[in-house]
Amino acid sequence: MGKQQELNTVQGQTVPANHFMPYASHHKVLIIGAGSAGLTMAAMLAKKMDTPDIALIDPSESHYYQPLWTLIGAGVYNKEKSLKPMAEVIPEDVTWIKDAASTFYPEQNMVTTQSGKAYSYEHLIVAPGIQINWDGIPGLLENLGKNGVCSNYSYRDVEYTYECMKSLKKGDTAIFTQPATPIKCGGAPQKIMYLTCDYLRKQGRLNDVDVLFNSAGGIIFGVPDFAKVLNEVIDRYGLTTNFKHNLVAIHGDKKEADFVITKEDGSTEEKTFKYDMLHVTPPMQAPEFVKNSSLANEAGWVEVDKETLQHVRYPNVFSLGDVASTPNAKTGAAVRKQAQVLGHNIMQYMKHGEIKSPKKYNGYGSCPLITGYGKTVLAEFDYDNNPTPSFPMNQARERWDMYMVKKHGIPFLYWNLMIKGNP
Ligand SMILES: Cc1cc2nc3c(=O)[nH]c(=O)nc-3n(C[C@H](O)[C@H](O)[C@H](O)COP(=O)(O)OP(=O)(O)OC[C@H]3O[C@@H](n4cnc5c(N)ncnc54)[C@H](O)[C@@H]3O)c2cc1C
Repeated sequence: MGKQQELNTVQGQTVPANHFMPYASHHKVLIIGAGSAGLTMAAMLAKKMDTPDIALIDPSESHYYQPLWTLIGAGVYNKEKSLKPMAEVIPEDVTWIKDAASTFYPEQNMVTTQSGKAYSYEHLIVAPGIQINWDGIPGLLENLGKNGVCSNYSYRDVEYTYECMKSLKKGDTAIFTQPATPIKCGGAPQKIMYLTCDYLRKQGRLNDVDVLFNSAGGIIFGVPDFAKVLNEVIDRYGLTTNFKHNLVAIHGDKKEADFVITKEDGSTEEKTFKYDMLHVTPPMQAPEFVKNSSLANEAGWVEVDKETLQHVRYPNVFSLGDVASTPNAKTGAAVRKQAQVLGHNIMQYMKHGEIKSPKKYNGYGSCPLITGYGKTVLAEFDYDNNPTPSFPMNQARERWDMYMVKKHGIPFLYWNLMIKGNP
């Protein structure tokens, strides 16, 4: 059987001979996704391996530092500050395959792409992030970026959030939503709400506007120490929290949004809210092509051991970042710690064919909860929601120094150390 023919026979099925372009390439390490996780791993392994043979598959022309979008939405930075051309950030000795991965064939150590090419590997790292379902709420796609509908989760529209903040007037209502699904940065839906309140406060107009947090969840934050501070912030700004309120439709022409409310007895009712500003955190899920693959667990995430980040069925497959099944808060901060663990473990696997003395990821996640211009509660915690502070000071309160860390320190470390392979 010739190489091309061999590759065209996958998972027991013969793929039409002309389905793939000529067999593209083979790599010692193949990484899917050049976001925070994939790029960090590529740069780190390029340093660690004696003869690096690493390829990154990612269709995006740009790499985004998404944690900055909260401050961009609040008018602190221009959105260009969060972007670098992908070609600039991919390390020189790493091959960039500008394509989207579409199907995994882990038994054959092969991945195919949207353009019909096949790539084989010795070790695979899966890191394409989380999928945002912009079409998951009727009316969202059509209205995003106009009619008062904004979202910091969209690079295209992130600056419109600030436009909405500035146009709030006496008697207006601003609603901030959070969906029932897992999301990246669990704190982002509320951070922009606090910034909006602080913006209004500075203008002396806080009491002119009704500000509502309509969340499908049942609590403000999972870690009690930080939830306590946030509840004080909520009282200070005079915010209304409506839990178990799930956004289901937007009528931009009338500036109305429908929510399904789940009551204590489990029954539901629908209620329509008028809004002038609606900041939407859209529903999210594991990327479709991951969900439909044999790498996925029942919920669709790449099924890895939560400590070693090695796949539970395919030992030469690893995953980290938002797409991994690890039950931590999906954040760039988690990626940083996961990369430290995976860098060690994958090198061990390459050397010994097994992870002899594994490093273990403890579920570390961090969320700089911005509560106003110049105020941040730096929440850091592990799998068991135990606080894991990095600084020798009380982090369970609003601090100016932590705002500076968020605004200047972490972005600097991200661009200059983390994605250069020193997480
Ligand atoms: C508004 C907002 C605020 C945030 N705030 C914070 C914060 O304060 N602190 C914090 O730590 N984190 C924050 N985050 C979360 C953080 O950005 C993510 O957790 C982090 O980027 C996850 O890294 P990742 O590599 O898994 O995914 P991403 O960085 O999203 O990268 C995924 C990559 O995969 C690529 N890709 C997608 N599909 C395919 C495919 N089929 N084939 C190949 N490549 C593909 C994409 O093009 C992208 O480059 C925030 C995120 C947002 C949106």
